[in-house]
Amino acid sequence: MPAGTNDIDERLDAFVAACRQHGVKATHQRREIYRELARTVEHPDVQTVYRRVRRRVPSVSLDTVYRTLRLLDDKGIVCRVACQDACARFDAATERHPHFSCVKCGALLDVCSDELNALPVPASATALGTVTSVHVVFQGVCVACRNGRQRGR
Ligand SMILES: [Zn+2]
Ligand SMILES: [Zn+2]
Repeated sequence: MPAGTNDIDERLDAFVAACRQHGVKATHQRREIYRELARTVEHPDVQTVYRRVRRRVPSVSLDTVYRTLRLLDDKGIVCRVACQDACARFDAATERHPHFSCVKCGALLDVCSDELNALPVPASATALGTVTSVHVVFQGVCVACRNGRQRGR
């Protein structure tokens, strides 16, 4: 569901508080980068965030966007969804949730499932090492692609 303006302001306040807590300076550029992430459910990649932030902050560089998202991910303030560096997608929602990934158009959609979020980590996984996060991804063809429509970006 699209976030309203008030909601964004609240999330920005929470963002500034989280930054303070983690000793990260909530600079103007970082706030604008976070705003672009928080206002969409698309899980944009670095390039997409950069293109959108640049409309309002022409002085921002791709490198700044990349480093900011990396830093915020390190601090747990945003979430990196895809594992591979080359196609990393970012999410302002850091609470655990599954995703649906469309193999045709690349859409990455949130899946709501209390059941999956409560799924315990099996002993066979913890035996292999310390589990720090769990990410369930469903792959398939999204409704828009299935109906032969191109998903608007
Ligand atoms: Zn699709
Ligand atoms: Zn998500």
